[in-house]
Amino acid sequence: MSTTAAPSKVSGFRWDPVFDELGFPKDPDNMYTQTVATMLEAAEVVGLPHRVKIILAQPKNELMVHFPVRMDDGHHKLFKGYRVQHNNALGPYKGGLRFHPDVHLDDVKSLALLMTIKCSAVRLPLGGGKGGVKCDPRKLSAGELQRVARRFTAAIINDIGPDYDIPAPDVGTNAQVMAWIADTYQMSNNTRSNDGMRIVTGKPVEIGGSLGREKATGQGVADVLEEMLPQMGIPIQGMKVSVQGFGNVGSWAGRILQKMGARVVAVMDHTGCLRNDEGFDCEALAGHCREAGGIAGFEKHGGTTSSGNAHGKGATEITVDEFYQTPVDVFIPAALEQMVQSREAEMLQCRVIIEGANGPVTPEGDEVLNRRGIHVIPDILANAGGVTVSHFEWVQNKTAHMWDEETVDRELKRYMVMAARRTLLAANKYDVPLRQAAYCSSLEHLGAVYKVRGIFP
Ligand code: NAD
Repeated sequence: MSTTAAPSKVSGFRWDPVFDELGFPKDPDNMYTQTVATMLEAAEVVGLPHRVKIILAQPKNELMVHFPVRMDDGHHKLFKGYRVQHNNALGPYKGGLRFHPDVHLDDVKSLALLMTIKCSAVRLPLGGGKGGVKCDPRKLSAGELQRVARRFTAAIINDIGPDYDIPAPDVGTNAQVMAWIADTYQMSNNTRSNDGMRIVTGKPVEIGGSLGREKATGQGVADVLEEMLPQMGIPIQGMKVSVQGFGNVGSWAGRILQKMGARVVAVMDHTGCLRNDEGFDCEALAGHCREAGGIAGFEKHGGTTSSGNAHGKGATEITVDEFYQTPVDVFIPAALEQMVQSREAEMLQCRVIIEGANGPVTPEGDEVLNRRGIHVIPDILANAGGVTVSHFEWVQNKTAHMWDEETVDRELKRYMVMAARRTLLAANKYDVPLRQAAYCSSLEHLGAVYKVRGIFP
C-alpha cells in the first residue's frame, strides 16, 4: 500500500438518481443523505444491482415514540424516542441507543445504515439498527434517567426482541442503562424465559455482559492501527496521537495505544482542549474525567496518582484550532458526527485519521483530506470492535457460557484484522481510498447475500 492516500474517484457529494427515485429532499448537508450517498458511490464501484441499492437506501422500519416521565419535582415531561431498523438481511437488527439533546430522526437513520454496513464489513451475522431519546442525561438525576430508560423500553417493547432487534449502549448511555432496559423487558414479558437478559448487549458483567466489552471499541481501534500502520510506514512505538472525545471510545483507545508505546499529546472534549508534548497519562486522565465529567481542570493536577503516575503535569490549555493544528501521526475523532468539516480538515497536521466516532468527517472534509494525502480509516471498520464484542456477548448469552477476557480479546483481534485486510484488498482491487474500500468490501457481502436469498416473493 502507498504511504499517501489514493485520490478519490468521486469528489465530495454526488446526487445519485436513486435520490430522485425515492424522493429524497435536496439537502446535501443532511447527514442521512450524505451517508446514503457514500453507500451509493461504493455500490456503483462494485456493481451492486439497482434492487439492492434501493433497499439499502431506506430503513425497513422507522419508529418514533413519545412518552411521559415523572421528574423529581413531581411534574411530568414528555420525551421523544426513536428506534430505526435499517436492514436485517444478515441477522437481527443491532445497534446502540443514544441519549442526547441533538438526537433526531435523520441522524438515527444514518447511524442505523452505518450499522448495517459495519456488521457486513466485519462479517457478523447481524443487521443494522439504532435508536435514541432526545434528552440531556447530564441534566437528569439518576432516578429520572432510570425512569426515562424504563419508560422508553416500555414504549418500544413490542418492536425489539432477543432474536429480532438487540439494542446496546451509545453516546449518553452505558452498562447501567442497559441493565434497566434488560430488567424492564424481563418484568414486562414472559418471566418464565430469560429473554430479558438477552435483549440488550453492553450489560454489566453481573447480568450477562461480556468481559472486554467496555474497552472493545477502543481495543478495536488499536487492533486496526496495529494491522494497517506498518503498511503506511508508521511505527506505533513513539507515534504521536491526538484524541477528540475522551469518553468510552477515546479514553480506551488512548489508554491502550499508550500501553503499546504511543504518546497521546492532545485531547479535546466538550469541556475544553489540552496539550502535553510529553504525552498524557491516559489512565489518570480517564480517572479525572470520571470524577470531573470532562478533561477540563486536569492541567491543574500536578501531583502523582497512588500508582505513582504523573497526573496533569506538563499539560496546558489550548484552543480548538490549536488542537486541530497539533502535529501528530494519528488523529482519532471519537466524539460526535460531522465535527471534521473542510475547515478542520485543512487545519489537521496528521498522516492518518482513524474514525473512532461514527461519521465524524463530512464529505467535504473527506475531499480535503484525500487531496492532502491523509489516510482516513473509516468508522465502519475502525469502530466495529464494539459491535463485534456485542456479538460475542449475544453468543455467550445464547449458549449460557462465559468467555474469559483473553478469548474475547483474541477473537476480537481476529475479526478486526480480517476486516482490515479485506478493506486493504478492496482498496487495491478497486483503486479507491479506504472509506470507499470498506464500503465496497461490505457491499460485496450484502450483494452476495441478496443474490442467494432473492427478494420475496
Ligand atoms: P461517550 O459519551 O462515552 O463520549 C463522548 C465524548 O465526546 C465525551 O468525551 C464528550 O465530552 C465528547 N464530546 C461531546 N460533544 C463534544 C463536542 N462538541 N466537542 C468535543 N467533544 C465532545 O460516547 P462514546 O461511547 O465514546 O461514543 C463516541 C462516538 O463513538 C460516537 O460517535 C459513537 O456513536 C461512536 N461509537 C461508540 C461505540 C461504543 O462502544 N461506545 C461503538 C462504536 C461507535
